[in-house]
Amino acid sequence: MSNGTLTIDLDAIKLNWQALNKMSADTVETAAVVKANAYGLGDKKIATKLAAAGVRTFFVASAEEGQSIREVLGQGPKIFVFSGHMAGKSSILEQNNLIPLLNSPEQNIRHRETIPKHPFGLQLDTGMNRLGFERADFSEFIELYSEKKPELIISHLACADDKAHVQNASQLKAFLEMTSGLDCPLSLSATGGILLGEKYHFDLCRPGIGLYGGLPFREANSVVKLSLPVIQTRALAPEETVGYGATWIAHRPSLIATLSAGYADGLIRAMSGRAVVYAGGEPCPIAGRVSMDLLTVDVTHLTNIPDRMEILCDLQTIDQLSDEAGTIGYEILTSLGNRYQRDYTNF
Ligand SMILES: *Cc1c(COP(=O)(O)O)cnc(C)c1O
Repeated sequence: MSNGTLTIDLDAIKLNWQALNKMSADTVETAAVVKANAYGLGDKKIATKLAAAGVRTFFVASAEEGQSIREVLGQGPKIFVFSGHMAGKSSILEQNNLIPLLNSPEQNIRHRETIPKHPFGLQLDTGMNRLGFERADFSEFIELYSEKKPELIISHLACADDKAHVQNASQLKAFLEMTSGLDCPLSLSATGGILLGEKYHFDLCRPGIGLYGGLPFREANSVVKLSLPVIQTRALAPEETVGYGATWIAHRPSLIATLSAGYADGLIRAMSGRAVVYAGGEPCPIAGRVSMDLLTVDVTHLTNIPDRMEILCDLQTIDQLSDEAGTIGYEILTSLGNRYQRDYTNF
């Protein structure tokens, strides 16, 4: 079966980083979050491109992800690990010069016991209740280890995509209180926090989704295009049905195109009967259920059936497609499967 083609514009990622970098003062560093294989788009290629554009600090979720980009980055850039110092990870952290963001007293003890000289950062919980030191534990930590300076102290905003949300200000207040008097670089903002304004910027911002063209960064350049080959077209008489469950019924003589990609490629079943695919500029509704390897599309209104159709393009961004599927752009990107041919442009 011929595959879809996922085109990833590396220059667009670089332009997005430059645009986000401009939103904070020159004294604020803008890092890059490349966890989850750079949101599904290729960690090595994207880290290489961003380092060449001037990014000096990267963030990943796990030590293994850090190891993967260390291979292409060399020893220069800093790499922080959000999950911190997990059991069994001391040597991979040490050997790859990765800086764990310690999340708890337990992780702190592990760090002291295994690689005490190795640099570390800290993550504080300011209200998300997901990862990070809680207030009481952190006060204790500070008393115990005031002589050892963390490379960076971070916290993460739960509601930064909604400027009006009251939790933004309450987390900002908690972060200021917990870090007051500490002489150490601070970071609170991902993409959403950058857009909340300079009070949220501190010493370093760490955008992820904005780099890859997703909301809440509205002005982002789009980064991905996904085009799918048409395998076959089929004429239907009225009353004939399409696909599993026979959920789509022809109400007129119809033409259905079958495209080569399905939910195994990240085009989730929730798109069934809702999303559209584009033929040139012409929207064509998905007819019936998305299958594992195939999409069926109503092309009755087209005068010419193209060889390929686009499901991600300028007319349908990751956020528009995610709306149709009841999810978010982040999930669309990180679900894009391994069967596509990946073409990188503008190295
Ligand atoms: C994923 C993540 C980011 C990046 O967030 P975006 O919303 O993609 O910009 C930043 N910080 C932490 C702790 C994260 O988990």
